[in-house]
Amino acid sequence: MLSVTEARERILSHFQTTATEVISLAACANRILAVDISTAYDFPLFDNSAMDGFAIRAEDTSPVTLRQAQGGALRVVADIPAGSTPSVTLQPGEAARIMTGAQLPAGANAVIPVEDTDFHNREAGTSAPKTVSFTKVIEAGENVRPRGMDIRAGEVVLKKGQTLKPQGLGLLAMLGISNVQVYKKPRVALLSSGDELLEVDAPLESGKIRDSNSYTLAASIESAGGEVLRLGVAKDTRESVEELFQKALREDVDFILSSAGVSVGAFDYVKEVVEANGSLNFWRVNMRPGKPLAFGKYFDRQFIGLPGNPVSAFVGFEVFVRPVLERLSGQLDGGRRRVKVRSVEEVESDGRESYLRAKIHEKNGVLSARLTGHQGSGNLLSLVQADALLIIPAGVKCVPAGQEIEALLL
Ligand code: AMP
Ligand code: MG
Repeated sequence: MLSVTEARERILSHFQTTATEVISLAACANRILAVDISTAYDFPLFDNSAMDGFAIRAEDTSPVTLRQAQGGALRVVADIPAGSTPSVTLQPGEAARIMTGAQLPAGANAVIPVEDTDFHNREAGTSAPKTVSFTKVIEAGENVRPRGMDIRAGEVVLKKGQTLKPQGLGLLAMLGISNVQVYKKPRVALLSSGDELLEVDAPLESGKIRDSNSYTLAASIESAGGEVLRLGVAKDTRESVEELFQKALREDVDFILSSAGVSVGAFDYVKEVVEANGSLNFWRVNMRPGKPLAFGKYFDRQFIGLPGNPVSAFVGFEVFVRPVLERLSGQLDGGRRRVKVRSVEEVESDGRESYLRAKIHEKNGVLSARLTGHQGSGNLLSLVQADALLIIPAGVKCVPAGQEIEALLL
């Protein structure tokens, strides 16, 4: 049977990053940049004040000058609000009132915060005083944000393949980039299969269950940056499965994702339909949960068939489908984080690569893990209670308490 790594590599080798598109900055949250971003300008573009206070020449606050000027009184020769262009050049003994973000006047090289001066009237609308004094010595450069402090002209500030987070959008706005080249979102046609499956709002009937996989998988696709085309539920007949697959063929989707119907049951038609009208690359992987996992092509469309059991479908998605979506969307910084943890109890496996549901606790910098209950592949609750999957490598049947294990953080 194929190992998890071999299976993933086989799947990934059939997918390439999708095309790019240019979209408006406001729509860019969580999209993947398709180009490096740099700027032709320094940011900030001009020396400016980091505080509300007085722009001064630091020399005027040296201990000697302070003494000579009897307490350091400086003549206030200008008032500089944010957004204005100062016209004065400070001479020895002069200061200018200045607001945060306002451009420093020529001659000034430091700002003394208003709190450190004798000017206590801080109401909005108050005009600048005639003189200002203070006793503190200020170094040149203090409370000044010099030109280029944040970004130097020519510097690459965001990289191709990077996910655009809120702060990235802010940076693009700062640079004046209103339209951004990003990768197109991968599109996935999603279907469930099984005669036992009911819609979420249908009353329960004997022998039936609700189709939970469509919801888990659609949300998983979206969380990985993909777009979902919901095909609904196929009955356990060849015709019904064919009908939904045909629908997928007519749509512009990167691949078809199904759950259930790929095992060895008498009514597992999904695998059969793919074999009959395309090719099956493999349909079993040496893992638990999630052994019946199929990969192939339906006509010329890529197909991934996840197992039906809700936890197997989820794990299969994380291990095989999320990486596909990352590749298709050009994402280079994504992926679930993997960390080393220590299990508080002995953990058993059957020798297949196993993914066990666990909750992680941190104490004094050490991460420990405790299983969240029943590990059966149909037990969705223990998956909901987990925040990680412990990965027991193939060939290992028992991990003693306290030994390090790799964990995939959810
Ligand atoms: P199968 O692969 O068709 O044998 O399905 C394996 C198990 O998963 C069965 O217990 C099914 O009832 C269950 N199952 C299949 N599809 C879904 C689904 N969409 N939602 C919840 N459970 C499912
Ligand atoms: Mg079934």
